[in-house]
Amino acid sequence: MASESNLMENIVSLAKRRGFVYPGSEIYGGLAGTFDYGPLGVALKQNVKNLWWKMFVTDREDMYGVDAAILMNPKAWEASGHVSGFSDPLVECTKCKRRFRADHLDESGICPNCGGSLGPSRQFNMMFRTNVGATEDESSATYLRPETAGGIFVNFKNVIDSFHPKLPFGIAQIGKAFRNEIAPRDFIFRLRELEQMEVEYFVKPEAWAAAFTEWQGTMHAFAAAVGLTKERVHELEVADGDRAHYSKRTIDFEFDYPFGRKELWGLAYRTDFDLSRHAEASGVELSYFDEETKERIVPHVIEPSLGVDRTVLAILASAYREDELGGEKRVYLALSPSVAPYRAAVFPLLKNKPELVEKAREVFSILKKAGVSVIFDDNGNIGKRYRRQDEIGTPACITIDFDTLGENPEHTDTVTLRDRDTGEQKRVPISELADSLRA
Ligand code: ATP
Repeated sequence: MASESNLMENIVSLAKRRGFVYPGSEIYGGLAGTFDYGPLGVALKQNVKNLWWKMFVTDREDMYGVDAAILMNPKAWEASGHVSGFSDPLVECTKCKRRFRADHLDESGICPNCGGSLGPSRQFNMMFRTNVGATEDESSATYLRPETAGGIFVNFKNVIDSFHPKLPFGIAQIGKAFRNEIAPRDFIFRLRELEQMEVEYFVKPEAWAAAFTEWQGTMHAFAAAVGLTKERVHELEVADGDRAHYSKRTIDFEFDYPFGRKELWGLAYRTDFDLSRHAEASGVELSYFDEETKERIVPHVIEPSLGVDRTVLAILASAYREDELGGEKRVYLALSPSVAPYRAAVFPLLKNKPELVEKAREVFSILKKAGVSVIFDDNGNIGKRYRRQDEIGTPACITIDFDTLGENPEHTDTVTLRDRDTGEQKRVPISELADSLRA
């Protein structure tokens, strides 16, 4: 097994080589804090988001989805406290001028880069400012959203008016968020452009604790469903004073990344802070009429907040393996079939036998039509093809050989199905393939 420091290097290099994640704007020398997902990264990320949407939204009866604009009226960010409070402490080295997050350094006051002395700490607001329209003055200034939650709160009343949900109910959103991080680092862990999957779950004030526990359970179930190594996931009860300005209870879900134990996701009890602040600032009533008690209340909020990119990195770190199979060293990703870019690869045993290629194409299209995500590969020998698929985490390889065509009548219209993790092979009838891959 690779050591933890090699593990990170190996993941970054595999991700680039095999088309999962590339450095952003690479041909221009990159842009710090940005990465681009390649074809396999897109597929993996899409599977993560689809699974999240299923578990957090469509499997339930009390959830509503939105897709709000990234650009919002700046008053929303004033009301939420982000304009005044969404900042990190920044220090600059007086010698090399490099900037650091003060809370990520020891207290020596010495620059970890050049050993020079660090200047005073000041608060640095992490929201990206931009201008809307043709004028570039204060009146046109706004921000790229630093979290997707804002777009949910401003639609609270819309969802109530359209759907009349009863409490408890929630609104979910997946989308990009932007944070001008002082020191982006650790590959896709700390980005300046990131993606979030967030729920704001509205409850009666006295019901917050039960809802908090329920979402905590759902988050653990999601961690298991995407294939995170259980022993690497930890909960951290965030202490008073360390919590965000709006929160009365927060649990950080932490993950043992190759560079240390760090926040993966957050679960926060945001009280009625957001709805009250937005109601006050907008002048629009954001409340709920309780038919039972005939009272108007401001619901309280539980927020499970999950970063897509940090999830993808935790999946890759959980899945990366080096072993020996059939006397040969190999690298493979033990990805859960629920997130793997391809569920299966289809090969003709030999590339230069048209009858094998034709039959393999037929199997490929049967699976595609059945909605299984498959890739066709006839390049190089079969051993090389296995290695290529192992390295991108394809759980199954299907080979069409002469037996499939009837050379051994017992095996007519069967294929070999090879398991990525064990290398074991069995013969399966073509007619049963789709079901066995979906199971
Ligand atoms: P950190 O303390 O690591 O800066 P945070 O506490 O500011 O994170 P939250 O505001 O709780 O993070 O954001 C919710 C989730 O969004 C995080 O748990 C994480 O998954 C994701 N996230 C936040 N900031 C980043 C970032 N810069 N890059 C990638 N993902 C991020």
